[in-house]
Amino acid sequence: MKAIRVSEYGGPSVLKLEEVSALKPGPTQVLVRNHAVGVNPVDTYLRSNTDNRGPKLPYTPGSDSAGVVEAVGESVKGVKAGDRVYVGGTVSGAYAEQTLCEQTQVHALPGNASFAQGAAVNVPYATAFHALFHRAHGESGESVLVHGASGGVGIAAVQLARARGLTVIGTAGTDKGRRTVLEQGAHYVLDHNAPSYLAEVVKLTNGQGVDVILEMLANVNLQKDFGALAMRGRIAVIGNRGNIEINPRLAMNKNAAILGVALFHASPAQLVGIHGALVEGLRNGSLRPVIHEELPLAQASKAHEAVMQNGHVGKIVLVP
Ligand code: NAP
Repeated sequence: MKAIRVSEYGGPSVLKLEEVSALKPGPTQVLVRNHAVGVNPVDTYLRSNTDNRGPKLPYTPGSDSAGVVEAVGESVKGVKAGDRVYVGGTVSGAYAEQTLCEQTQVHALPGNASFAQGAAVNVPYATAFHALFHRAHGESGESVLVHGASGGVGIAAVQLARARGLTVIGTAGTDKGRRTVLEQGAHYVLDHNAPSYLAEVVKLTNGQGVDVILEMLANVNLQKDFGALAMRGRIAVIGNRGNIEINPRLAMNKNAAILGVALFHASPAQLVGIHGALVEGLRNGSLRPVIHEELPLAQASKAHEAVMQNGHVGKIVLVP
């Protein structure tokens, strides 16, 4: 079978399509025939070994895919060959025609969601859920600013927050992004490249500020976020690509909390709850992943360039 392999850390060109041995599931494992593979920014950080977090070489990248179960190990119960599934984490890597998973890493993909949408679920939706509900404790009746709402995590956060009954303000840098953010359920949308857009957040909340900010680019926004935050507000830092100097008094003045978010640190029990909610959200139509572009698996390097550029709306997906 064909897989993308990384044999040295570096730029997108280190992603090579190779022929590798077919996979066989161990006793507790599930073998999935991938129909679509999700590309996440973290895949690029691991590929370039940012912060020395790169996996042991050589490896097949990716944690997200969707497809059909091809075979299961002898101890696996409740999943069988022919089932449509989405994958959240793998044993063998997702950028491939086949993926080996532990049973806990496969989740039912309802018939109303396409394989491309299934490949767009795991990291974006699980992160948005973990940030909004487990870390920031967003509640119905509260307000949330999804600061960077047009990407994979942002669109997921808009849909999840709206379904839970929060007032949702989203931001995007392009007209197409802003249109999509409104279509996906935000009550209001703003341009994060406009000069005084955070003053608008204060106006939209009757001078109070928002209860929760989900922050996709903390190194640019964290200091100014406090001006748009309500008393006792919570800022969940999801995305960050550098350093920033902030005045801690701004947090003191509002009894505010800055919360780090890493999906990687969600507990096994939290992950069970997250995926239970996501499967039901897909089934009832409240969660509808948006696909920006589908590319052939062989164009993984192009996908890695695209995912690090602004302006894509929703997810970039590879098709094996
Ligand atoms: P993505 O699809 O590339 O989306 C990036 C988003 O950031 C877009 O909405 C983009 O909007 C927005 N953005 C650009 N400039 C901005 C600015 N000045 N202020 C606010 N937003 C801005 O990426 P993603 O998959 O949604 O991930 C978002 C970030 O979260 C990435 O840095 C990723 O590494 C991180 N992440 C972290 C975790 C975790 O566990 N902590 C998990 C998943 C992702 P425009 O393109 O419209 O300008």
